[in-house]
Amino acid sequence: MKRFGFYREHFSVPTELPSIHDIPLSLDSVIEDILGYLEGNPTAVDYTEASDCLLGCGALLVGCSSVKTDGEWVWRHDTHHYVSEHGLSVPPEFMTWGEDRRWVVVRGEWENVEIFDEALAVSRSLE
Ligand SMILES: [Zn+2]
Repeated sequence: MKRFGFYREHFSVPTELPSIHDIPLSLDSVIEDILGYLEGNPTAVDYTEASDCLLGCGALLVGCSSVKTDGEWVWRHDTHHYVSEHGLSVPPEFMTWGEDRRWVVVRGEWENVEIFDEALAVSRSLE
């Protein structure tokens, strides 16, 4: 599984992850499709934790570190906020993946414990 939307500012220990301040802004015209995909896919791990937006807009992001997955990609729940409110881009490879699927979310019956376990493991990597 591949992931995005995990930034070094999410962790209290040093990591090799990119800084949220280095993510380019999105110029994509399919932003609504992307947002629907980020929100509509299954939640692999649901946390009730809340934290302030890393970019200082003042939003309290409830469930920020919950983990979403489509079985191929893993992203944090708060990725939706950073894309919708701050215009951060998603990786080009993820764009291609989503476009190939016309941004159709995976269905509920697809939910799979092994995939969710893998998504959790991927989400915890600090590299
Ligand atoms: Zn914000």
